[in-house]
Amino acid sequence: MTKPADLLVKHGVVLTLDGQRRILADGAVAILGDHILAVGQSAELEREYAPCRTIDARGGVVQPGFVDCHVHLSQHLGRGTIPDLWPESREHEQWLPYWTQINEEEARCSALLACMEMVRNGTTCFCDNGGRFAGELNAEVVAQVGLRGAISEVCWDQPPHPAVAVGDTDTCLRRLEALARAFPKRPDACVWAAVSMAGMGLCSDRLLVEGKRLADQLGTLMEMHQSFGPEDVARYRAHARGKSAVAHLADLGILGPNLQLVHMIHTVPDEIPLLATSGTSVVHCPAASTRMGMGVSRTGRMPELLRAGVNLALGSDSGNYSDFLDVGRQLYLAATIHREARGEQPCVSAEQALEMATRNGARALGVDSWIGSLELGKKADLVIHDYGRPEWRPGLDPVTSLVYSAQSSGVHTAIVDGRIVLEGGHFPHLDEERLYQRIDQAARALYTRMGWVPRHRWPLL
Ligand SMILES: [Zn+2]
Repeated sequence: MTKPADLLVKHGVVLTLDGQRRILADGAVAILGDHILAVGQSAELEREYAPCRTIDARGGVVQPGFVDCHVHLSQHLGRGTIPDLWPESREHEQWLPYWTQINEEEARCSALLACMEMVRNGTTCFCDNGGRFAGELNAEVVAQVGLRGAISEVCWDQPPHPAVAVGDTDTCLRRLEALARAFPKRPDACVWAAVSMAGMGLCSDRLLVEGKRLADQLGTLMEMHQSFGPEDVARYRAHARGKSAVAHLADLGILGPNLQLVHMIHTVPDEIPLLATSGTSVVHCPAASTRMGMGVSRTGRMPELLRAGVNLALGSDSGNYSDFLDVGRQLYLAATIHREARGEQPCVSAEQALEMATRNGARALGVDSWIGSLELGKKADLVIHDYGRPEWRPGLDPVTSLVYSAQSSGVHTAIVDGRIVLEGGHFPHLDEERLYQRIDQAARALYTRMGWVPRHRWPLL
């Protein structure tokens, strides 16, 4: 007697990322509603289930969707505006007018572009650091595209410029609490709120401590930038009165499994055991660092963090830093830049990089019981790659192929919460062309108001 299922994905090379890291050469995944019913051999699951719909993966890799632990939905229209050789000290030349002049429609278009790009590149869950407008705006867009993710609102009571102030400490905390109560983190919610902090030096100690208390009370995550560039490091050293940043956070009592520190390019050795013993996650954003020359390959201690048992995940950061939201490209960089800088093999292995992009990301967001691997009972968040492309051949080792040769443009299908949100590389429920036109119009309007002129070094005729 066969059992009902909504969807059976079969004949794929299934990278389960489960406890044993099983890879099924001719594997299948059965889905009912929003969750996984079974993962096994295709022949077995074909006998066992009578699905409403079947997808033949035709030898393509089937993987748990990527988890992008750090993005800025509101800044994606800023892509392409930062020239090469752009020191951090000039950040405000682009960022400040963008931040102060963007309107709600433009912020919506920015979020739409970011969410579509993530899905198109195989990301099914993300964490946003928050923008200028109410979190509800992003929540609507995330639901429209069909992603899973943590939203927030920007929070700083010591902003980098008076024009971007969002209020005093209590105002920041009230906004975060209201959002977290409106979007509670629970398994049936695809969108929930995290407590996002801009980072040490931009947030007072009281804001950090009370924000963390709020995250603890509401069972959600707190995330914050930390130790990114030279100016950031100078800010936190002044703030922490000479102590290391992580030692200061430990003194404040806010380290823990529901805290993720983003970047940590300038980690010092005595911070590593504090991160490991507290269960604090670190989000490595290699493209944001390499694009801006911030030094993660030179000074980053990501291999040491992994060796110490720190949960290390991946993030794409923002359109005006890394220029793209693509975990597939982040994991290539995560696997390669440290071995290139140090001349050590493997430093970070392909398998470790893939774990960072899936399981570790889920753990960093506190949703590892829902997603991050393909296992019975977990949410049906998965991606199917198209094997009918040259970069996948000869397909001798699916992990090596996925990390080193696969391209995100080869993502064929993405399924989130049991729903097909990308099929054949397109969004079945969205009018893509119309949306791209709307996004272009919004960007042009914003950049006209900002007076931003592209700086072409080659003649544009
Ligand atoms: Zn960021």
